Amino acid sequence: MKKISEPARLIDVIHETEVLVVGSGPGGLSAALAAARAGVEVTLVERFGCFGGNITVVGVEGMHWYRHEKTIESMGIPKEFEDAAKDAGAAVPESQSLSYEIDSEGFKLVADRMVEKAGIHPMLHRQFVAPIMEEDAIVGIITESKAGREAILAKVVIDATGDADVAHRAGAPTRMAAREDLMAASVMFHLAGVDKAAFVKGVQSDPQTYSDWGGGGEWNIETSGKEDQMFSPFLHKPFAQAIQAGLIPPHLNTIAGTWGAIHDSGELTYMNLVHLAGIDGTDPDSLTQGEIEGRKQAMMAIEALRKFTPGCETARLRNFGMSLGVRDTRKVDTRYEMTELDVREQGRFDDSIGIFPEFIDGYGVLILPTTGRYFEVPYRNLLPNKVKNLLISGRATAAQKIAHAATRNMACCAVIGQGAGVAAALSVKQNRALEALNITDIQASLAAQGARVH
Ligand SMILES: Cc1cc2nc3c(=O)[nH]c(=O)nc-3n(C[C@H](O)[C@H](O)[C@H](O)COP(=O)(O)OP(=O)(O)OC[C@H]3O[C@@H](n4cnc5c(N)ncnc54)[C@H](O)[C@@H]3O)c2cc1C
Repeated sequence: MKKISEPARLIDVIHETEVLVVGSGPGGLSAALAAARAGVEVTLVERFGCFGGNITVVGVEGMHWYRHEKTIESMGIPKEFEDAAKDAGAAVPESQSLSYEIDSEGFKLVADRMVEKAGIHPMLHRQFVAPIMEEDAIVGIITESKAGREAILAKVVIDATGDADVAHRAGAPTRMAAREDLMAASVMFHLAGVDKAAFVKGVQSDPQTYSDWGGGGEWNIETSGKEDQMFSPFLHKPFAQAIQAGLIPPHLNTIAGTWGAIHDSGELTYMNLVHLAGIDGTDPDSLTQGEIEGRKQAMMAIEALRKFTPGCETARLRNFGMSLGVRDTRKVDTRYEMTELDVREQGRFDDSIGIFPEFIDGYGVLILPTTGRYFEVPYRNLLPNKVKNLLISGRATAAQKIAHAATRNMACCAVIGQGAGVAAALSVKQNRALEALNITDIQASLAAQGARVH
């Protein structure tokens, strides 16, 4: 490939902070809140114009859709996200669980308020592009924005970019599955103009269950059996009919999936129907192709819903997510990699920083936490090898395939984030390296914040 050389330049240090969180999804927002509440200066950097990550950027509204009567919750910040959204009128009852679906637009305001109230220094519209290193320790980052390149210095950095951008560029070893093995990417959308009464009647007259999941792509699943007869807001038939009618080409039998909530206003939200295999979320060309192809498929899906789903005859696209939704990219080689056994068999750890119900969703497995079983996440899972002053939060923490299908869930990412935030704050306050922290201090601080660690 042809190369050019970029001239060296001086960069302004525009800001210094104690804890710097890069990325504001469930893993980053929770980390920033936890660190600020633990009493240190926190800065939250985000490449887009709102906080919330996949919730607000992609429109992933189902944060607690796993919750059933016997589910043991993590408590702490993940629960607080749902409660705050509910209190702000930015959540409606979710269709298949004892949870509330978070309104992706309303959550932008909820997150703003939480950030303001915690005294976090907000820095939107800045993309992390490079780490600032002193030997093997990260001491800040360089961002790129409309203002050009700028430097921010920090005592501790938390990588919550989802894609491990910071860790990867800082030289921490990362792994990524081959393209064909990655979870599919999705263009998400919301509809307006749905006749709620007719839609609900249609669902009630032909209720779908988890045993109806199928149709290729992400939706061919193995359950533990107990899920099979439970209601699921699954849509497959309209798309099979559309294929038969020649409206959708047969190879797009991957169009199928779930809806989240039907609103009194006629909005049908969190339409998780388009699944694109082979998209590499770290390759902008692949992302470009996914965005364009995904929007095309979404419009075919809407046409099929209008023709073959009661109540959707006059439905129209309300909006796409601001970005293609990516489920699976780099995983950082942290000091402990979560295993399939941990998430399937209630892993327990002395250095637990939080618990997450036995909820596995991905790579062809769906297990719902209907029995009160849960696993713990160890602090070592947040500590990258090779780079100091850095913690990993969110979906980029080390996990085997089936473990990723559990830890990638937004509430688990927020559990990890709260652990990361508290640990970062303690490291600053005690002037101790992240790897030298006393786990009982971390656990006490988390308990004081209302999180459950065992
Ligand atoms: C289509 C889809 C449906 C899903 N459905 C569900 C579901 O129903 N329930 C569930 O629990 N989970 C679901 N997930 C998974 C879940 O949304 C993610 O795993 C989770 O949001 C990951 O959280 P995170 O904080 O690690 O990353 P993200 O939510 O991706 O947040 C990362 C943030 O970092 C920012 N960022 C990235 N790179 C940079 C950079 N270089 N500089 C500055 N900022 C940066 C991003 O803009 C973003 O705001 C779904 C995912 C997708 C894609």
